[in-house]
Amino acid sequence: MAHVSDHDLERYHLGMIFKEPELAALEEHVLVCPACAVRADETQDYVDAVRAAIVVGRYDYRVASGVGPSQSWHRAATGLI
Ligand SMILES: [Zn+2]
Repeated sequence: MAHVSDHDLERYHLGMIFKEPELAALEEHVLVCPACAVRADETQDYVDAVRAAIVVGRYDYRVASGVGPSQSWHRAATGLI
């Protein structure tokens, strides 16, 4: 399996990957690939920070568009407001 894309890491941390074959392949790759494990941790931190900002600070998620969140992020952020 190729490295996990940033988009798929975001989808994973947002709970948007729920089909077992895709979920298992992603988790197995992250377990054996140090590079993707680091990126997965960074993505989790990013997801947590943006969620906290939305909840606590009534954060305008559109500001974050300049730092690279994917379309899935915008949909999730909109759903939380
Ligand atoms: Zn990898």
